[in-house]
Amino acid sequence: MVFKCILCQKESCYYYNLCSKCERIKDYLSLYDDRVYEVLDSVLSRDKDKQENKVNVEIQKEINDKEVSLKKKKQKVKFASTD
Ligand SMILES: [Zn+2]
Repeated sequence: MVFKCILCQKESCYYYNLCSKCERIKDYLSLYDDRVYEVLDSVLSRDKDKQENKVNVEIQKEINDKEVSLKKKKQKVKFASTD
């Protein structure tokens, strides 16, 4: 039996009530929980060209955070090896 996806209401589904694209959203929700809503709200509430800027800023912010945590881990290893 064919029916419409319960989330997007556009794509046809055959075995499951979510289409493959909406299935990905469900996977993101299980991985990132409320972060998905925060990202959608902060990005999609802007004009299309500003959305691109926001995505780039967020990506750069995450890269910076990861670099800081990597540096901290390296320092801990340094201190541990001098003991
Ligand atoms: Zn869908």
